[in-house]
Amino acid sequence: MAEELRESSFQDELTGLPNRRYLLEHVNQAISDDSGRHLTLVYFDVDNFKTINDSLGHVTGDAILRCLAQRLEALKPSVDKVARISGDEFLVLVDDGDPSRIAQLVKRILQFIQKPLVFDGYNLSVSVSAGIARYPSHGHDFTSLLKAADTALTQAKQNGRNTWAFYEATMGVRELRFLHIQSELRQAFERNELQVFYQPQVDLVTEEVVGAEALLRWNHPTHGQIPPYEFIAVAEASGLIVPIGNWLVKEVCTQAMAWNEAGLGNLSVAMNCSAVQFRQGNLVQQVRWALYESGLDPRLLELELTESILIEHSEHVIATMHGLKALGVGMSIDDFGTGYSSMSYLKRFAVDKLKIDQSFVRGMLTSPQDEAIVRAIITLGHSFGMTVIAEGVEEISIRDALATHGCNHAQGYLYSEALSATAFQVFVQDRIESSFRSQRWV
Ligand code: C2E
Ligand code: CA
Ligand code: CA
Repeated sequence: MAEELRESSFQDELTGLPNRRYLLEHVNQAISDDSGRHLTLVYFDVDNFKTINDSLGHVTGDAILRCLAQRLEALKPSVDKVARISGDEFLVLVDDGDPSRIAQLVKRILQFIQKPLVFDGYNLSVSVSAGIARYPSHGHDFTSLLKAADTALTQAKQNGRNTWAFYEATMGVRELRFLHIQSELRQAFERNELQVFYQPQVDLVTEEVVGAEALLRWNHPTHGQIPPYEFIAVAEASGLIVPIGNWLVKEVCTQAMAWNEAGLGNLSVAMNCSAVQFRQGNLVQQVRWALYESGLDPRLLELELTESILIEHSEHVIATMHGLKALGVGMSIDDFGTGYSSMSYLKRFAVDKLKIDQSFVRGMLTSPQDEAIVRAIITLGHSFGMTVIAEGVEEISIRDALATHGCNHAQGYLYSEALSATAFQVFVQDRIESSFRSQRWV
């Protein structure tokens, strides 16, 4: 059979698995032989494969794909066919249409795939996400089933990685909404429907507001408030994040300067940077210009970067980092601990601040692992001379635990959600006044 596969170009060279063409013919044949049968197509995609490839090299990337292929093959006879259809994408065909049995199976597959792989003495754990589509409910042939499984896969990725989703008819509606948003976002930007909100950041020792994180809001005239996780992805996909980011940096600098002049103290304002801005934009010139126009002290502007930006060792990223550093602006790493945290980039890029990801903060009183991670990040940050801030702080008990461990700053609903610029100013002034009042009575 292997011979036959090769001859008819039905085989994927890297892994030796059947390819997309093979599966297309197989599924369509099976359906035409017996249209009353039930089939399930599962679409797997490796999480963050690009990062793995970029950081560990293509040779290791290929070796990982071959290992995954072997693991999927080893699932037979629980699954009927396994194919690799491109890059890091695999398909599994199951001769069964029972949703609960399929869910059990896919869950087991995700666990099995996650078991550590050993390369050159390294232990590596790779996860995949899965989208599931069933015949005949979700498609009448291979192409329509694949499209449905792909839509479900997108949903699974949005739900957080290392998870799976069944196709639902409403997902098509969501796709339409995505396209709709894309066409409207440009106009919205021009019509000033985008706003910047500011979430206070508080010093854990003095309880004073020391800064704010700028968060985008889209106030849509008919859809209402559209959350950032819906439109940031759209803005990144369409490249619109670059002009939006350029506008944002001016807005943020002007606002920070105004607060400074209003006597709110030396508040620093942090702004989120997308990887797309790093790759495509001329971020350094934009930031330099915004600082110059507003007259803001560069130390009061902070850029929040993600680990995925720093792990890209491209010349352009490195030059941008050095350019920003030379301007004297602060640099922090957002969602620290969720990506490929690497000691070498901390040293190389002289980052000023680590932001502990919300998931660890939220779990730190219930999960010993989360608590250990939080403490490790605080120790790591301090030994590099960095400030450490915890985000997603919702409870006093968590704030107290963070303070005990020596975490410097905190941000979260316990203090306040993100506020309009005016409301933020009132929030800070109220806190200054009430601390002044309490000091007078002591
Ligand atoms: P992020 O940078 O991790 O921002 C923190 C998010 O957590 C914000 O959601 C914030 O409102 C929310 N949050 C803060 N405190 C708490 C808390 O105590 N509990 C809970 N449950 N949530 C809390 P938001 O504003 O919806 O932003 C979501 C994401 O959108 C941001 O995540 C960021 O990745 C992206 N984003 C927002 N504004 C911008 C922007 O201007 N540029 C770029 N590139 N991305 C942005
Ligand atoms: Ca952030
Ligand atoms: Ca964050």
